[in-house]
Amino acid sequence: MDLFKKCFSYDAVKNAKRDGYYPYFHVLNSKQDTIVEMEGKKMIMIGSNNYLGLASHPEVIKAAVDATNEYGTGVSGSRFLNGTLDLHIQFEKELSEFLHKEDATIFSTGFQSNLGIISAIAGRNDIIFSDKENHASIYDGTRLSYAEVVRFNHSDMEDLELKLSKADPNKGKLILTDGVFSMSGDICDLPEIVRLAKKYEARVMVDDAHGLGVMGKHGRGTAEHFGLEDEVDIIMGTFSKSLASLGGYVAASHDVVDYIRHNSRPYIFSAAIPASNAAAALQALRILKREPERVQALRDIANYMRAGLKKRGLELRPSETPIIPIYTYMPLRTMVACNQLFEHGVYVNPVVPPATTVGECLIRTSYTATHTKEQMDEAIDKIVEVLKGLEDLNE
Ligand code: PMP
Repeated sequence: MDLFKKCFSYDAVKNAKRDGYYPYFHVLNSKQDTIVEMEGKKMIMIGSNNYLGLASHPEVIKAAVDATNEYGTGVSGSRFLNGTLDLHIQFEKELSEFLHKEDATIFSTGFQSNLGIISAIAGRNDIIFSDKENHASIYDGTRLSYAEVVRFNHSDMEDLELKLSKADPNKGKLILTDGVFSMSGDICDLPEIVRLAKKYEARVMVDDAHGLGVMGKHGRGTAEHFGLEDEVDIIMGTFSKSLASLGGYVAASHDVVDYIRHNSRPYIFSAAIPASNAAAALQALRILKREPERVQALRDIANYMRAGLKKRGLELRPSETPIIPIYTYMPLRTMVACNQLFEHGVYVNPVVPPATTVGECLIRTSYTATHTKEQMDEAIDKIVEVLKGLEDLNE
């Protein structure tokens, strides 16, 4: 059989392209910001993870440019060997201090961080307990690890306890959860996870990709939000969201981070992030520390949007984060809605299986600290208008 058969009959995509509702790979012609230019049109951007509005901040851009001038464009090697810059070390120091952890190290992306942390820290004699709504990179990290993987129902602490109670007490245990779940915007039940971890002698790892800069008074993340920074053993995160760059990190005790430095294949056998990325993310972190009011501004704009959508009759599930999912349930309705919003100058993200479960399709909207109320009012009008027009589309 021809290996490429699947490529020739990839009908879902072909049909969407043919019928004009293909919603992916739109082209950006500008910086990432609250207003962007896409395919030559001005758009309100409510589909990015630029939570603090720093991707176009002049100080962040200058830091990247200056670092490129000083260190060149790429490091041409792994952190393990020739690729460690003094800038990486400085960044790791400031990051671990900010997160109240002993040590931290940097990976090339957030996705790679999960692959690299999980596969290094969990092995054949260990069990990973992973929330079913965890990010794809966690799924893949667990597959890479050789550990036994036990999935618990999303934020279902009874299910988690049942599964922990049945586990072999002689095996190492890791509870793995997103801090803020990337599609639903839910916050994990960290107090209960920490309680269960203590009871069953498990370690806790939080993927705080959507928590850094978002949760807690100072934006230190989900653990800060719950006052549990000392109880979370491993914090993982990314520079591609609040920190306006590219890269990822692990923050934990020195022994754990150093073990990862010497045992993580995705870390050791991959090149380090270039100076421009590190410098941009470091400058973004410094701005977050200097201007914690951005975290509150983000909360305020998300609350304004939530209230505005509800006032116009949209049913929203409870959420407190800047990720506001609008449930459209059916895949075709979701993609058509996103495309129509695009035509109306509002960029949002379609979420259909496998990124969500069947029947739970949604439009993922996400907000930025620098969005204005006028932009939000316009987006609300367009969302309500488009969804009204699609009420009868049940596919
Ligand atoms: N974890 C979560 C929860 C995410 O949402 C993402 C990105 N969508 C990642 C990890 C991967 O991060 P990156 O895009 O920086 O590779």
